[in-house]
Amino acid sequence: MDEALLARFPYMHEAHGYVKTQPIPLQEMLSDQAYEPARVMGKQRVLDALERGAVAGNLPQGDVNQFHYLFSYAVARMIVSATGDNYLIRRFALHEAVTGEKSLRSVSDGFLEHLANQIGLELRLSAPIRPRRTSGIEPPTLHDSPQRILRPRTETFRVHFSNYLRHTNTMRDDAWKLVNQDLADGYVYLPRHRVLRLLRNAIQQHIEQDLPLDVSPEILEALKPQLKEVRAVLEVKKATFKAEDIGKVSITRFPPCMYNLLAQIQNHENVPHMGRFAIVAFLHHIGLSNEEIFRVFGDVPDFAADVTRYQIEHITGTSSPTEYTPPECSTMKSYGICPGPDRICMTIKHPLSYYRVKGRERRPRGESASTAV
Ligand code: SF4
Repeated sequence: MDEALLARFPYMHEAHGYVKTQPIPLQEMLSDQAYEPARVMGKQRVLDALERGAVAGNLPQGDVNQFHYLFSYAVARMIVSATGDNYLIRRFALHEAVTGEKSLRSVSDGFLEHLANQIGLELRLSAPIRPRRTSGIEPPTLHDSPQRILRPRTETFRVHFSNYLRHTNTMRDDAWKLVNQDLADGYVYLPRHRVLRLLRNAIQQHIEQDLPLDVSPEILEALKPQLKEVRAVLEVKKATFKAEDIGKVSITRFPPCMYNLLAQIQNHENVPHMGRFAIVAFLHHIGLSNEEIFRVFGDVPDFAADVTRYQIEHITGTSSPTEYTPPECSTMKSYGICPGPDRICMTIKHPLSYYRVKGRERRPRGESASTAV
């Protein structure tokens, strides 16, 4: 596989192996002037992730040294890991995944299959077939829309339904629901453009699950200037979340879990169902109106206004007999939406208690919501 291809997909086994076999010690790569371009690109990858998130990055053009570009991915992972910031990790994984999806548009079907299987998406090339429908959807009839009857059979990939569910569990759009897929013998059949979207999720999960890396003191020292710059941008980014959009409450009193959920929503990332439930209940209990909560959700991908309104009204007790409270910390942890306790978390058991405690204390000079540890 040539260097340029490895550089575009640095999470592949082959890319990892290629970097490992280089006869240059890591310390030299992190300090030698010859590799300065790779360090600059690595830092830029992280800054792009912060600034652009779900917008694909630009692929290297012209004379860019492909080895430097490949190595810049490793540098970026070290920088992200050194910050230890979960929000940045997610943002980095998302940005790399969206950029990867863009690169995948021009590769062969065989390459898609090869890459997918390395990162946990069990994809198989398949001849187009006419699969049976799931029980949830009847076969087309003469009363169906012309689009449904005449839809061309372009499926060329298949993935087992259990693996399909694993990679679509954050997608709420009806078009991705299992009941709306073409299924045969336990396999979901997909056209290429939908496979690319699934691959984005697989790449994102794959990158995220490996981070943060253990970063040695030597690496921290070598990347000090890059880290300083990234931390400064991260701080500004977190401080400028659209606080004005959430009305009268103080975002600086939010616990890390709610802060992260809000950041994900405002950065167009998918938030799992339990996360949406938790943030709605939290915002309700700290005093936001249903309309204010609704506005917070206006940015969510696959945003369905009716469904969101219904969910908000249900959770806040407007249209149901129960006014739900946010889950306790132990439940948040079991759902994987507690990013890890900070100083105040150690003293409480519920995200709402955090908000109250933080409201009572004076924040130390220089500390903000995103740096309280
Ligand atoms: S410990 Fe509780 S309040 Fe703190 S981040 Fe986790 S879930 Fe939120």
